Amino acid sequence: MPDDANTARTKMMRDDTSPVGGETPNMTAPLPADVLSHLKAVLGPDGWSQEPARLEPKLVEWRGRWRGETPLLVLPRSTAEVATVVGICHEAGVAITPQGGNTGLVGGQVPHGEILLSTEKLRTVRDIAPMDDVLVVEAGVTLLEAQQAAASVDRLFPLSLAAEGTATVGGNISTNAGGTAVLRYGVMRDLVLGLEAVLPDGRLFDGLKRLRKDNTGYDLKQLLIGAEGTLGVITAASLKLFPVMRSRATAVVGLESPHCAVELLMRAKAETGGGVDAFELMGRQGVANVLKHIPGARDPLPQPYPWIVLIELASGEPGAAEAGMERLLGAALEDGLILDAALAQNAQQAKDFWRVREDQSAGQKPEGAAWKHDVSVPVSKIAAFIEEATAAVERFHPGVRVVAFGHVGDGNVHYDVLQPIGADGPAFGALRDEGSRIVHDIVARYEGSISAEHGLGRMKSAEALTYKSPVQVAMMRAVRDALDPKRIMNPGVLF
Ligand SMILES: Cc1cc2nc3c(=O)[nH]c(=O)nc-3n(C[C@H](O)[C@H](O)[C@H](O)COP(=O)(O)OP(=O)(O)OC[C@H]3O[C@@H](n4cnc5c(N)ncnc54)[C@H](O)[C@@H]3O)c2cc1C
Repeated sequence: MPDDANTARTKMMRDDTSPVGGETPNMTAPLPADVLSHLKAVLGPDGWSQEPARLEPKLVEWRGRWRGETPLLVLPRSTAEVATVVGICHEAGVAITPQGGNTGLVGGQVPHGEILLSTEKLRTVRDIAPMDDVLVVEAGVTLLEAQQAAASVDRLFPLSLAAEGTATVGGNISTNAGGTAVLRYGVMRDLVLGLEAVLPDGRLFDGLKRLRKDNTGYDLKQLLIGAEGTLGVITAASLKLFPVMRSRATAVVGLESPHCAVELLMRAKAETGGGVDAFELMGRQGVANVLKHIPGARDPLPQPYPWIVLIELASGEPGAAEAGMERLLGAALEDGLILDAALAQNAQQAKDFWRVREDQSAGQKPEGAAWKHDVSVPVSKIAAFIEEATAAVERFHPGVRVVAFGHVGDGNVHYDVLQPIGADGPAFGALRDEGSRIVHDIVARYEGSISAEHGLGRMKSAEALTYKSPVQVAMMRAVRDALDPKRIMNPGVLF
């Protein structure tokens, strides 16, 4: 048995936001030497690596919060090669962690002793079919490349998130990604028509249909969507395309409170007949962080309003989005619902507005330790949730600074609690479990979710057991046991 296999074990970098639930044991045996040599032989010299420099970027999560280990990186070039690899591992009871772009935020893509199966060589755009409004791509195609493929035939693939240049379609599907266009187009689950995947025993799930209607029993592809690599390796997907919008208007609005933001959202949806593409909220603390730490960032409004909303309207009719935005904001100003507004005059200005939103996390990092939460509640309860959670965390730890931002149109708030100015970061980080329990208990009372869009991964799986009912947990385990009785697929993730 090679040394690297023997020593492969879980290692996690602890920091201010170290995951709940502690280390997840690797539940499978180390990689036997004969399996290692078999995998190398079937993949050939270009199909695997053990070179530390090649492995390094795949073993460290992008923020450096998770560091993993693997005895072997496998780089299959086709669905058939994925099936061969998974079949060999299934036989031997050797665990696998699938990885796409390694942009996941809950550590599910970082191996902790498992074989690391990267989809980086599954990069083919298999078909672009404008008449069907369908795009068929392999799992390792990046989200940006999928958007570009759609644009090449004058169509839109609407999923959009800040990591889209690196995140892959396979990763987006496995995490059921959300992003900034969910309000209009839904989450990834809503955008997938068909899937091809290799099941944990190496069999091919050939569900790569492109039908909008297929009412023939269980919708099996939906099991794999959001499964975070626990039910197989997704190798390709057929995705829904949409018409390209002919007008788009982007504005930022200053408001007194999240209550006003939700009221404005209701009006925007009603007045535009569903024409709202994005509706993103940012609190003053988050905007101040961006202005302080991100070079070139500018306050989009002349006054430091307590809350800012970024709204994007889009329409198939030229000029309609701009006209709709002016009507909406003019009336809201007149009624005193909003304090101020600025409409982007060109694409660069729209980009600058988005930058303040997209840099919320980057701007926060230099301010010290934070307890981070990706939660959702019904839209109607967002304002009450922010108020109640803020009062509770301020009681628990006076001086904390709340950075609340996110996709308010979807009821999704990234609710981060920053250490008090000058506080000891590690000591504050050590209180994360207690602090997060306060936030998540309030989320639960509002019938919300402790993971709105990032998934559970290694970070939140243990904690999620507290908030799922025993029946839900039993159903999830039954599905997993049926498809992966040996638990070789991402064993440290989910239940
Ligand atoms: C700056 C930034 C902004 C972000 N913004 C958003 C956002 O707005 N909304 C949002 O939802 N997410 C967001 N994310 C999180 C992340 O981009 C998404 O979770 C994305 O979908 C992950 O894609 P990936 O290819 O990087 O997957 P990875 O990180 O490689 O993997 C994620 C999970 O999917 C599994 N997996 C990956 N590929 C496959 C496959 N082919 N088959 C089976 N399992 C697989 C992995 O095992 C892991 O559990 C953001 C991340 C960053 C860094």
